[in-house]
Amino acid sequence: MRTMNRGTTQQSSAPYNRRIVLDLIRRQGSMSRKDIVDLVSLSPQTVANITNDLEAIGLIMSRRLKADKSRGQPPIAFELNPNAGCSIGISLEPGRASAAQVNLVGDVLRKNDVAVDTRDRRQVLAAMVGLVKDLMSRRPVSERTWGIGVALPGPLIATDISFVGPTALEGWTDLSVLDDLRDATRLPVFYSVDSVAGALGETLFGVAKSLDNFFYLHLGMGLGGALVVNRSAYRGADGNATEIGHIPIVPGGTPCYCGNAGCLERYLSLHSLAEALGVDDAQVQGGQLEARLADDGDAALQAWMRQAAHKLRDAVCIIENMLDPRSIVIGGSAPKALAQRLVELAQPLHRSVRGGVAAPEERILLSERQEDSSILGAAVLPLYDMLSPRLEVLQQERRSDANVAEIMGQRPVGRVGRL
Ligand SMILES: [Zn+2]
Repeated sequence: MRTMNRGTTQQSSAPYNRRIVLDLIRRQGSMSRKDIVDLVSLSPQTVANITNDLEAIGLIMSRRLKADKSRGQPPIAFELNPNAGCSIGISLEPGRASAAQVNLVGDVLRKNDVAVDTRDRRQVLAAMVGLVKDLMSRRPVSERTWGIGVALPGPLIATDISFVGPTALEGWTDLSVLDDLRDATRLPVFYSVDSVAGALGETLFGVAKSLDNFFYLHLGMGLGGALVVNRSAYRGADGNATEIGHIPIVPGGTPCYCGNAGCLERYLSLHSLAEALGVDDAQVQGGQLEARLADDGDAALQAWMRQAAHKLRDAVCIIENMLDPRSIVIGGSAPKALAQRLVELAQPLHRSVRGGVAAPEERILLSERQEDSSILGAAVLPLYDMLSPRLEVLQQERRSDANVAEIMGQRPVGRVGRL
């Protein structure tokens, strides 16, 4: 087992200890009180109090394990209660809004998506409110909705390269539409750059569950990245770290909307694929691309794949030599079949500091949740604070009510963090 967070006995850290225990139960799937006591520096009585509290709130449930005759009374195992509420994730990409309702163990219960002109904020708001209403109108699995998480292509604060080009939310100047979403739905709204959301989704419920340190590559309409260190996303000086799509990789290459030329996402993104195929972006979103992927005789697609895989191989080498991540996890809205094929074509990988240390199959992992990884990541945003003991979660967030905060002892209402 990897290093576990250890509790502290200070009285003031009761909410922190509660999260430590909740996180342990989530990561292990099922644990007895004795297992928990063995792994944290908390007294059996404190652990008993915490499990009683969490059970009373409804976040965990207990069941008695099968009797073992030699041991007397069988122990009670605690598990996360999947129906202790749900969360709604919305992924915004140019031209499309997708949403899903997700339960506390990361199961996607329902999902829906609509085409939308993301340059028009009124349309975006109407689409998001419509998706939320649709998901909530069907029979609820639980009365409690923890909040809405929105994942958007970054950077999300004004920089030279923010809100420009067809892979970003072109023409946006601020995120006030999210305040309108909160007002319209009366639910807390959390948001983050899509790559960070995707990385946190993989941390809580995906292939990175047991990784404390990894790089997440978000392959969608554009290309984003997130570095997760000790289960938090590294933010950089102003919250714009690891914007890997705009790293110039080809000297004098294809002009980029950011003003530079030869940027990685001009070769490795769904938008670059649409350009190469001479089709609208909408035709490489959703199910349409999958049928085309199955056709080996599609010369334009195969040519794009070969060059994109070449760039992926270079990008993997850069990421590995710069950051030495345990693994590179590829997620995003691109179909899994596409990512898988690119990874195959990128073999053999370049020599790097991970070569000879990591097994070849550990160097790149594919999200098991594609194409759901974007919306799952978004849905994780309202849950992450509660389910992970990392107190310095780096997503920007807005809250309009304090139900989670009250339960977990967090700061109430109105905290606006930084991305
Ligand atoms: Zn660029």
